[in-house]
Amino acid sequence: MAEGIKNRDTEPRPGSPLWIYLAVVTILGAAVLALAMSRLTPADIQLLASSPAFWIVAGLICFGELRPIVTPGSTEEDGGTTSTIFTFALLLHVGLPVAALLQAAATVLAGVLTRKAPFRTAFNVAQYCLSLGAAALILRLFEVSPSPADPWVVDGAHLLMVGLAAAAYFVANDGLVGTAVALHEREPIARTLRSDLAYQALVNVALLSMSPIVVVIMNRAPALLSLLVLPLVAVYTNASISLKREHQAHHDGLTGLPNRKLLITRAAEALSDAHRYERRVGLLLLDLDRFKEVNDTLGHPTGDRLLQLVAYRLRHGVRPGDIVARLGGDEFAVLLPSVRDTSAAREVAARVRAALAEPFRLDGMFFHLEASIGVALCPDHAPDCQLLLQRADVAMYVAKERRLGVAIYDAAKDRNSPARLGLLGELRRAIDRGELDLHYQPKVSVADGEVLGMEALVRWHHPARGLILPEEFVPLAEQSYLMRSLTSYVVERALAQAAEWWADGLRVQIAVNISARDLLDSNLVDVVSAGLLRHDIPPTAVQMEITERVFMNEPGHAMETIEALAGSGIALALDDFGTGYSSLVRLRRLPVREIKIDASFVRRLANGGDDAVIVASIIDLARALGISSVAEGVESEATLAALRGMDCDAAQGWHLGRPMEAGRATAWLAERVPRQPLQAEDPFLPAP
Ligand code: C2E
Ligand code: MG
Ligand code: MG
Repeated sequence: MAEGIKNRDTEPRPGSPLWIYLAVVTILGAAVLALAMSRLTPADIQLLASSPAFWIVAGLICFGELRPIVTPGSTEEDGGTTSTIFTFALLLHVGLPVAALLQAAATVLAGVLTRKAPFRTAFNVAQYCLSLGAAALILRLFEVSPSPADPWVVDGAHLLMVGLAAAAYFVANDGLVGTAVALHEREPIARTLRSDLAYQALVNVALLSMSPIVVVIMNRAPALLSLLVLPLVAVYTNASISLKREHQAHHDGLTGLPNRKLLITRAAEALSDAHRYERRVGLLLLDLDRFKEVNDTLGHPTGDRLLQLVAYRLRHGVRPGDIVARLGGDEFAVLLPSVRDTSAAREVAARVRAALAEPFRLDGMFFHLEASIGVALCPDHAPDCQLLLQRADVAMYVAKERRLGVAIYDAAKDRNSPARLGLLGELRRAIDRGELDLHYQPKVSVADGEVLGMEALVRWHHPARGLILPEEFVPLAEQSYLMRSLTSYVVERALAQAAEWWADGLRVQIAVNISARDLLDSNLVDVVSAGLLRHDIPPTAVQMEITERVFMNEPGHAMETIEALAGSGIALALDDFGTGYSSLVRLRRLPVREIKIDASFVRRLANGGDDAVIVASIIDLARALGISSVAEGVESEATLAALRGMDCDAAQGWHLGRPMEAGRATAWLAERVPRQPLQAEDPFLPAP
């Protein structure tokens, strides 16, 4: 309920059930208020005006309305207000007319000052008048009908009667507000009421039980009323501090939208409701296709403002009750807590895209953004929250890769089995706990054995299963948003190692493998550049290996990232060459300086035959284009000799050096690489 409430200011459509309900309640409330006021005599008013206790209480009511108690998990509307204490006290002490009138005045005042929609203020006034009316009716049954001229003072013997009146007030108030919320969010009324009954009851019992005490004070020593201010202020301060903390922990600082954590909580709530009420929950994951250009060309402050505008449009593009969250970078999510079917979810996705299609105006310029949206539904595509996120992510990946705009999750395009998904969850934890390690495999010159670089290869030390090789988890991570974290982790570790070696005078280039998905992610270039800066090493200290298979699908987005990487001075290698389809023309256009010939061709080299012909022509071709060639998987001297005969530039393989953990790699390097001491004019120190 908490997030949907923000949309509640949009006026309901005339004739809709909510509109009819609000109109009926407002009219009834107005009638009660009019009736009550007609019983207020000029003598009453004079009496009140001259009573300091009345003015103090009036002030406290206004204060309460202006500063509702907002606590974590509650909202402005359902958090309760301390004005309840005093209006109910007035009801007991001097009767319905005064209580209703003051409450109405305070509500209108607060409505105007906080710019609430008039229809909402009118409803709130009516809701209070009706609730107070219900309590007054109960008192009447006990023949209690006080007035300013004939005030009533509660004593211990009246506890039951006052309790019943308070119960009537609570039931009426909670029922009236709860029904409005339910109609607004299109939820069953009983369910909405039940959902936070315990919380509401607690707050209201706490507030209403103060009222009889206030009555006694008003009667005996009105000046003491001012002593109530301090505890009230304490409650407010406390509540607002914890609210602020809670808010910070669950919201994105830039856009104010819920973050991943809150999204997951809300999704879990929606899912448990969905099971109970046999409905569907939808999740849209959204990635902005051209955000990076803005960020790069105009800088982060402009990018940030653009994200704020995007957040605003998203919030206003979804249906009431839908929850928009920011997951980080340019990734947003929309939770649909209740959705009819896939086509309804697709409709929301289309609306969201339409909301973003209109160009954004910033600093007098127009920006066109496009979003790729992946959609998954529970229970159709996923039984639980974690899977729902993953499957929406798979769909988003499909949408982005194939430039579909919107893609609904399709199991046929998802290679995730339950066992693999379990592993994915564990991988996430492993990344968080730093259970992944990098091993380093040398790359050496075929001609003279000179060390040309080290390739970082990730290893997972699983607490139960032992060592897991990347083949088993990298493709898995590639299908999910985890790839981003995995790559950031590997890049960070590799850069830290490079910095260590360079500082030690061992100037070797570290190669990092990146996946096709990383290239669709506008974040990668930033991660690498920031890392280089932080570790104070030049771009030449790293190389990125891109697998050739990237080009088997639509490579449009990938090209943007590749060019950005090359543009920032990072050397690129085309990995697993020969397994994809790189045409000559493409190779010439790509900013790569190196190709790594896949081990499947290299392994059979020594036997001669077709493979030898292929490898030899790849090497020739690369040389003609000014690109150096590296043979992967060199396991024997014979293979190395064959490569030498073909004039291959470099080689990697067990014969030359296996992947080694960092300590051994350092020792291995120290024996083979001449140390170059640090000098002030070092080429790799940042230019002055
Ligand atoms: P790759 O980049 O082509 O790496 C070469 C793979 O061949 C490595 O396997 C390496 O251990 C293995 N290898 C090297 N020399 C020989 C040899 O002489 N004989 C044989 N049989 N194998 C050899 P590894 O470490 O299991 O990695 C497999 C693949 O996983 C890598 O292929 C790379 O595509 C991917 N990968 C590894 N680390 C990362 C990473 O940090 N990020 C990403 N995105 N992918 C990674
Ligand atoms: Mg590689
Ligand atoms: Mg390879």
